[in-house]
Amino acid sequence: MTQALFGAASDVGRVRELNEDCVLAQPPVFVVADGMGGHAAGEVAADLAMQRFAALAGRVDLKPEDVLDAVADANAAILARSSEHSETAGMGTTLSGVCLGVVGGSPHWFVFNVGDSRVYRFADGVLRQITVDHSEVEELRAAGRITAEEALVHPLRNVVTRSLGMDPPPVPDIWVLPVGDGDRFLICSDGLPLEVSAVEIVEVLSRAAPPQTTAEMLVRMAVDAGGRDNVSVVVVETPRSEVVPDADVSTAPRQGLSGGQR
Ligand code: MN
Repeated sequence: MTQALFGAASDVGRVRELNEDCVLAQPPVFVVADGMGGHAAGEVAADLAMQRFAALAGRVDLKPEDVLDAVADANAAILARSSEHSETAGMGTTLSGVCLGVVGGSPHWFVFNVGDSRVYRFADGVLRQITVDHSEVEELRAAGRITAEEALVHPLRNVVTRSLGMDPPPVPDIWVLPVGDGDRFLICSDGLPLEVSAVEIVEVLSRAAPPQTTAEMLVRMAVDAGGRDNVSVVVVETPRSEVVPDADVSTAPRQGLSGGQR
């Protein structure tokens, strides 16, 4: 079974009173949820979603259907809690994550999303956002009416078009990707891109520090840059294969030692 290395960090930021983000990093399940709703209800919604995904921890044979079932179960649990406790009516949460599973007998990543938390993949020095935000500003950006920079500060930037806690249930996006050597994923709530640019994120990921160090560093940067929202980061990677060194590696030229890949 492919092992994933991972790290996770979350911070309330410098403006909000509560941290309504939740992170889950229990192999093979890695998820960020950004809760929404007054009177701490967002925290309840995010936590209910995480409980459904925590139930998948330790599984070695996850299928995409397991992820979709967990999303559906989480949505139902949030709706049920809302109807039982009127003060939480309308609560909801985003949900973005990566699960390591098996398709056709070989290991695959399942990347999934509901809402405007994000999953990025970092490979060969390039950061690519895999998920598509389910948000008003993403629709405006995709239509060419605003730029990505304008989207970050747009007054509608908090309006998501899909979230858990909706009836009818939201349709999650899911991508099924074969596991590659040295894959690295960044899962984050919107509090990270709000404060830290893609260029800065690439700079941090390029240092190839341990995942926990990377996660804490990115969260710290978002808080230091203003911390206008809760910020959460999970970093997941597969280790590179062991490279068998040449017998005379001790006499290898300098560039053989400096590497550059990690
Ligand atoms: Mn947020």
